[in-house]
Amino acid sequence: EQLEQLLEENHEIISHIKDSVLELTAHADGQPAPPRRDNGSWALPPESRPSFLAVSPQDCQFALGAKGESPDLQMLAVYSLLPFDNQDGGVWKQGFDITYEPNEWDTEPLQVFVVPHSHNDPGWIKTFDKYYYDQTQHILNSMVLKMQEDPRRRFIWSEISFFSKWWDNISAQKRAAVRRLVGNGQLEMVTGGWVMPDEANSHYFAMIDQLIEGHQWLEKNIGVTPRSGWAVDPFGYSSTMPYLLKRSNLTGMVIQRVHYAIKKHFAATQNLEFMWRQTWDPDSSTDIFCHMMPFYSYDVPHTCGPDPKICCQFDFKRLPGGRINCPWKVPPRAITEANVAERAQLLLDQYRKKSKLYRSKVLLVPLGDDFRYDKPQEWDAQFLNYQRIFDFLNAQPQLHVQAQFGTLSDYFDALYKKAGIVPGMRPPGFPVLSGDFFSYADREDHYWTGYYTSRPFYKSLDRVLEAHLRGAELLFSLALAHARRAGADSRYPLSDYSLLSSARRNLGLFQHHDAITGTAKEAVVVDYGVRCVRVAGHAHRDTLALTHTSPQDDTRLNQDSLPERTVVKLDASPRFLVVFNPLEQERLSLVPLLVNSPHVRVLSEDGQPLPAQLSAHWSSATDTVPDLSILARLPALGLRVLQLQKSFDGHTTLQSSVRLYLHGRDVTVRTQEAVPVQVFPAAPDDFCLESQHLRSCFSGSSGLLQVGAGPGIERGWVTEFFIYGTRTSKDKSGAYLFLPDGEAKPYTPKDPPIVRVTEGPLFSEVSSYYQHVQTMVRLYNVPGVEGLSLDVSCLVDIRDHVNKELAMRFSTNIESDDTFFTDLNGFQIQPRRYQQKLPLQANFYPMPTMAYIQDTQSRLTLHTAQALGVSSLGSGQLEVILDRRLMQDDNRGLGQGLKDNKRTCNRFRLLLERRSSANKVQDGRPVSFPSLLSHLTSMHLNAEALVLPVAQQPALPALRSFASLSTTLPCDFHILNLRTLQAEDDSLPSAEAALILHRKGFDCSLEAKNLGFNCTTSQGQLALGSLFQGLELGSLQPTSLTLMYPLGTASNSTNIQLHPMEIATFRIRLG
Ligand SMILES: [Zn+2]
Repeated sequence: EQLEQLLEENHEIISHIKDSVLELTAHADGQPAPPRRDNGSWALPPESRPSFLAVSPQDCQFALGAKGESPDLQMLAVYSLLPFDNQDGGVWKQGFDITYEPNEWDTEPLQVFVVPHSHNDPGWIKTFDKYYYDQTQHILNSMVLKMQEDPRRRFIWSEISFFSKWWDNISAQKRAAVRRLVGNGQLEMVTGGWVMPDEANSHYFAMIDQLIEGHQWLEKNIGVTPRSGWAVDPFGYSSTMPYLLKRSNLTGMVIQRVHYAIKKHFAATQNLEFMWRQTWDPDSSTDIFCHMMPFYSYDVPHTCGPDPKICCQFDFKRLPGGRINCPWKVPPRAITEANVAERAQLLLDQYRKKSKLYRSKVLLVPLGDDFRYDKPQEWDAQFLNYQRIFDFLNAQPQLHVQAQFGTLSDYFDALYKKAGIVPGMRPPGFPVLSGDFFSYADREDHYWTGYYTSRPFYKSLDRVLEAHLRGAELLFSLALAHARRAGADSRYPLSDYSLLSSARRNLGLFQHHDAITGTAKEAVVVDYGVRCVRVAGHAHRDTLALTHTSPQDDTRLNQDSLPERTVVKLDASPRFLVVFNPLEQERLSLVPLLVNSPHVRVLSEDGQPLPAQLSAHWSSATDTVPDLSILARLPALGLRVLQLQKSFDGHTTLQSSVRLYLHGRDVTVRTQEAVPVQVFPAAPDDFCLESQHLRSCFSGSSGLLQVGAGPGIERGWVTEFFIYGTRTSKDKSGAYLFLPDGEAKPYTPKDPPIVRVTEGPLFSEVSSYYQHVQTMVRLYNVPGVEGLSLDVSCLVDIRDHVNKELAMRFSTNIESDDTFFTDLNGFQIQPRRYQQKLPLQANFYPMPTMAYIQDTQSRLTLHTAQALGVSSLGSGQLEVILDRRLMQDDNRGLGQGLKDNKRTCNRFRLLLERRSSANKVQDGRPVSFPSLLSHLTSMHLNAEALVLPVAQQPALPALRSFASLSTTLPCDFHILNLRTLQAEDDSLPSAEAALILHRKGFDCSLEAKNLGFNCTTSQGQLALGSLFQGLELGSLQPTSLTLMYPLGTASNSTNIQLHPMEIATFRIRLG
């Protein structure tokens, strides 16, 4: 009731908005049925509104490159340089012999920081909760106890998901002790994210969201802001992370899982510490100091120095009689008066050797492992024995060493101090590096490239949830601001805020490097799945409450089933739909809807008929229900109300026709009168489909795409499916590793596919039904973004496969040579080279949102709605792994194969663009950008319009459309989030929100003109004061990315300026 009252009041506020919405949408409405062309194809009238593409020439300069110096280390060049020969290095197997002169530290002593740590996975072999109860709570409890025993002790912690759960369960006294330990520098919170996220498959929306969640928690509960980053376990590193940490005001970071050949090379050249710079940064504003660990692992045997046999003797958890020992067969010995001299000498030798790999005389020695320090005895064993060694070493001036426990920032601070710089600056003589650290191999040819695809069902679910969460955040913040303005905030359903908060945390948890990666045990995967569906539920309940709709849209029966589309039942009274557009750009889209009757017409809010195509939704290759696709213009970040009426007037909806080619297969076809189906027993000849801007030709026998043509460009290609097997030797593919048994072999299904061709005025599509994959390629006959790329989807089901991976390959005549491009976290593009000297599996890369190949004439971009592994194994090729089923463990601790495959729908958009001003020199640069059209295509794919049918008996007041933005945003701007901040009471919203804006970098040489694609850029200027329709911007404070630090002073001006590629956060008050 409260909600209804509130909505009523809101309607008054937005009633004036309605007029402008109608003005905006009028042009797409009330169009007559389009005529057919002479050849029988449909012709939609061209866009009635003028299309505009107003990109200011200055905005094109950024992608053309900077004048700045090039970095010392450019990872693409490092890859070309290295032999990757994997020679035996002796005790440091993947390295080399390290020698030193004993007098090297005489003038400047070696300063050693031993950093105790415990790596806590928020779910892997056990669920998050089970780990918490079995281990993590004990680790943190004994931490408080044992750290207080000696002020010289130190500890670092990174996973706030665990820490906050523990915090909820401890006494005020213990909390005070924790705050003291943080305050006096004994305990350091490193990175401070909700989890230590995977960096290959995660999207930057979620990476930032979990970082904000962690940082906000820390600020509020402990009053601390993290300074240093710690990421020892993600399976390869993206250059997006150093950017996010830098913009959160962190000054140093540690990484560990880097290809062993790169570690060796950097160790030999003393380049393991560097300033990590973005490839697109024209100066040094994105530089962050990075320390790369040199050896095989972050455990104790691989962190004190090059010889694991010796280092293991200094892991005092492995003292004889304990549960674990040293596989190198020499056990640790407790440190006594009698042996301390000999033991300390042995360890110092390792420290000195390790130190030779770095430029400074300060040494970082991590001391920990997975779920360490869970018992008080372990604390004693490590801390007492080490302290005896330190005391001995520090008392021998002739050794020129000073050893102590330290936090990560203790180490960085000592290094900065010796270099004579303030934190954040570049130490003199240290190199600058740009690029990333994919793909990772830990030994031999064991490339961790399988996890880019493992469990694609959940990778897809993750992306859907991100869009829902973002949509709910935006709607919540706007609705709250409108309510506040109307003085109705006291009656606002504030409790919804705790749902949002819980959705953020569950989505954050899923970014963990064993979650979205698909590398957890089956039972843990189910736990994540249930939490994910809860995210959907919570985000959804917010959306429903705010849009006054009831849960009647697509539903998921289980955490592991694909969503089922709800059939809307029509009767005498009209039905209403609310459609939410989560994009900050107005969009002209087809709104899909299943109805129980073909006799339907669609009206806009004020009764104007809308064009809608009636086609068939196929529950199988041959079974159907009526499927309605409504052409509607949706306001940016807005809601549109549509009305459905039963109608027997035959001209109200646009009919489509279907041709079904059975390829000689004996199946029964069940059809319905509304959509005529012609059935052919044989395969057709090759055929083409056309829309306003695209032409696509298909193989008659396979139904797969063969020619793609866009405005002014045509490219031939072959679409094929391939199968990779795994090796017969002892090391086989698993959840992490991709170890194929050679090149892929063509997929050969038992039966030829059933091919179905649907042709209609608003869209046409071709579907092929194979045994293990159903493909659909759709052309939208719609002006603008939707109509300029091919909608491609693959419903994959390989549950009857054994040790096989299914790949889709496009082979084109684009002369791409050995170069291709993949994105990092949807944030930036990283050029890649196919390396002949590396095994096939080394040439796969993560593809969170897109990959492309190009020559001087054209670029073909595969946009994806879920992270998958991708490569280009030959010139003109683009290949993506769709799913993998592997029967065995791959020896990285999981102890399981990948056998819980689901029916998974992988969705893509294929965009072929003409390049107008490309040249080889430009293309050889280690940086690249998508076009604006490509950015928008990716956003359309990753943030679909949300269709919310209103309950059968809508309670009045009548629903109205709602446009939240007063003006179209420049098309290179993206509102990443509008996140209402927590009040003092966790479960309530505060009066402030974080507005997170991203200005995209783009390449102008691919611009699509006169294609109904509307876009203006503004040289990075944006007037925020008047952006939100009907709302005033009460205050505007630029802050660091995670709101920990104010940047500059809040000014009265509400105009902001953003450089290309930059993400900026503003603390705002709307009302
Ligand atoms: Zn881990």
